[in-house]
Amino acid sequence: MNRYLQSGERVLLIDAKKRRHLVTLVAGGAFHSHAGILSHDDLIGRDEGITVRTTMGQRFTVVRPTLGEYILEMPRGAQVIYPKDIGPILILADVFPGAQVLESGLGSGALTTALLRALGPDGSVVGYEIRDDFALRAQRNVEAYLGPDPRLRVEVRDIYQGIDETDLDRILLDLPEPWQVVPHAANALRPGGILLSYLPTILQVARLRETLEQSNFGMAETIEVLHRGWHIEGQSVRPDHRMVAHTGFLTTARLLVPESE
Ligand code: SAH
Repeated sequence: MNRYLQSGERVLLIDAKKRRHLVTLVAGGAFHSHAGILSHDDLIGRDEGITVRTTMGQRFTVVRPTLGEYILEMPRGAQVIYPKDIGPILILADVFPGAQVLESGLGSGALTTALLRALGPDGSVVGYEIRDDFALRAQRNVEAYLGPDPRLRVEVRDIYQGIDETDLDRILLDLPEPWQVVPHAANALRPGGILLSYLPTILQVARLRETLEQSNFGMAETIEVLHRGWHIEGQSVRPDHRMVAHTGFLTTARLLVPESE
């Protein structure tokens, strides 16, 4: 990455009220807001982290978005998995450089982007997505952050009907009926491989856990991740009044080799 901001790059513009705007820099371009105009040329060639003023004197701080910030700002088709869950998912599913991963569905591609960043040059993701519009949306979002990436292959198909890949290291699921995938996953993963499922309701989790119980998967675990921000200003040091109280439950299991008689 070039140290200085380049034309074609995305930046986050943050105003005095901490409102965020995701903007792609273009030579000769301008950012218009109720607080005045910012010329892109005043940003191109400069360091990120600078503060600049609009034609009306309003301050904006300029930084490159982190992956977490990009995910919160990027165009969404389906609901994305939030950064607070994506971090733990990468550790719980033990996503390592070089891993061969299957992900389904792709939705807006938030998890896909994070996976590709973690997988190194030899890793790969095959994505099964049932809707062609989401398959396209996910690929666009991945490409907007990482550029064209040959490590990602997307197939428009229903994972409940089966999985063609074999010897996969990891399978990550964000879809409504993951129990339908368990028998396919047991054939597609290598022994010791990990299945991870993100589910919004606990009844879905219970059904998945029952199915896993009757399969060659073992070591099943389910957690939820609670993330509470704090307000820190002078003497006022306390938890934020509001929090995202629920997103989804994370369930993992490992494919084990049945004991021979
Ligand atoms: N994890 C994604 C969001 C996924 S939303 C992200 O972080 O952006 C769930 C996706 O699963 C939707 O795009 C939906 O179309 C897809 N889906 C649902 N059932 C499916 C199935 N049987 N096979 C493949 N994809 C499926």
